[in-house]
Amino acid sequence: MKKVKKIPQIDGELGWYLTAANREQKIGKRLKGKQTADFAVVGAGFAGIAVASRLKELFPEKSIALVEALDIGQGTSGRNAGFVIDLPHNVDKTENSAAEDAQIYALNCFAIQKLSQQVEKLHIDCNWHKAGKYMAARESHNIAGLDEFEAMLKKRNFAYERIKGDALAGKLGTNYYQEAIFTPDNILMNPAALVRGLVAALENDGVTVYSNSPVIAFNYGAENMLQTVGGELRAKTLITTMSSFTEENGLVKSKIAPLFTYGSLTGVLPDALWQEYFADIEPWGLTSAHPAGTTVRVTPDRRVFIRNILEYNRQQKSTAAMRQYCWRHHRAAFLARFPFLAEIDFEYTWGGILAVTRNRQGVFSKLRDNVYALCACNGVGVAKGTYSGYYLAEKIAGINSKELEFIEKTNNPNFMPPEPFRGIGARGQIYINQRAAGLDI
Ligand SMILES: Cc1cc2nc3c(=O)[nH]c(=O)nc-3n(C[C@H](O)[C@H](O)[C@H](O)COP(=O)(O)OP(=O)(O)OC[C@H]3O[C@@H](n4cnc5c(N)ncnc54)[C@H](O)[C@@H]3O)c2cc1C
Repeated sequence: MKKVKKIPQIDGELGWYLTAANREQKIGKRLKGKQTADFAVVGAGFAGIAVASRLKELFPEKSIALVEALDIGQGTSGRNAGFVIDLPHNVDKTENSAAEDAQIYALNCFAIQKLSQQVEKLHIDCNWHKAGKYMAARESHNIAGLDEFEAMLKKRNFAYERIKGDALAGKLGTNYYQEAIFTPDNILMNPAALVRGLVAALENDGVTVYSNSPVIAFNYGAENMLQTVGGELRAKTLITTMSSFTEENGLVKSKIAPLFTYGSLTGVLPDALWQEYFADIEPWGLTSAHPAGTTVRVTPDRRVFIRNILEYNRQQKSTAAMRQYCWRHHRAAFLARFPFLAEIDFEYTWGGILAVTRNRQGVFSKLRDNVYALCACNGVGVAKGTYSGYYLAEKIAGINSKELEFIEKTNNPNFMPPEPFRGIGARGQIYINQRAAGLDI
């Protein structure tokens, strides 16, 4: 029996979850007593949802259970910045081949199309909108990041627009940035509302959803067993999609570093302020030209979202002191960009954990007979988790495709050195990066 030592917790005030239109809906039940299923999927993030959803299509007669430690939408999939990114882009400056970029782009678009169809068909109220995305720089030395991105977009024939000065300020409602590259096909949404809508639909389709049910031990064998407090689930096939908690399954080792990053969301801006400063502005989302820079959104429900600060955190739990530290950084970033909103407070500040690997590749593996792991990793998990989950279910069903081959070939994470080297390396890298970002944080 492999005991699980680290279990997800609620790291602060989860802004997207607490403002989701479908927040009151009850989804799932606690896993208690002795239960069985043909397939058990652990983790109801974008990866787990996609696995369960495709398994349901491929095996309509089999029973599928989706097990989640927290309430649905409270995991990292519901805490992120809400960008579903279409374009391939490596923040660490490594360059993909043209064929790799074309395949990643096709897979991202496939994920966007799948999610978009679900949002429309199920009427999921999650503020889904094709806002595009700005990648912007304030600091002159970070404009190099825009140049590199532009070179890739040009080389691969992707549509974009380079916008500067007053024209940019006219789009954003702030003159903080010098320059940006706008790409048109990125989606923005409330991620917790989307996760909740998707999981509620799976439950309606006959998937058994166990929410608020942390798995505390795994036992592997001809029949796999998951233990929760007061419950157990036996399943022939087990798939873990636990992201940064993946190594807790005891079968994946020395691959993943857990990295926290933090978000804050304001209350709804009062009508007078909105009319004065944003009346002609479309809701927008912006990432920084520097990999350690600040992500910003102005949402359709008239809030401002800020994300920054990276923290290597072995315990996988954030503290109130750390959230207060991040709140100060969020506040500084917010006031620098929107000094005219000084009277507006953040209503919510929270942390979420990314699973980071050394070579940016995710875990997409059969670990032993009838046991699989998917950990899409590295900060782009909405699209990547969605397409990888779909193709992991196809792998389980024995369906081959060029997409599956590509995903298997490009998801083999490197060895991650043990502590203390892992922590020293990760903290050092974060320190250097955050300093270099300058005013783009
Ligand atoms: C602040 C922030 C902003 C981000 N912004 C973006 C963005 O804009 N776009 C983007 O694409 N990505 C973004 N990311 C990254 C993205 O959120 C992740 O890549 C994505 O959530 C990964 O999805 P997943 O399904 O693999 O894992 P997760 O979403 O982490 O889901 C794993 C689930 O497993 C559950 N779990 C873990 N252990 C157990 C257990 N023992 N028992 C039961 N359940 C368990 C967890 O509770 C969790 O819900 C951001 C991340 C953060 C933190």
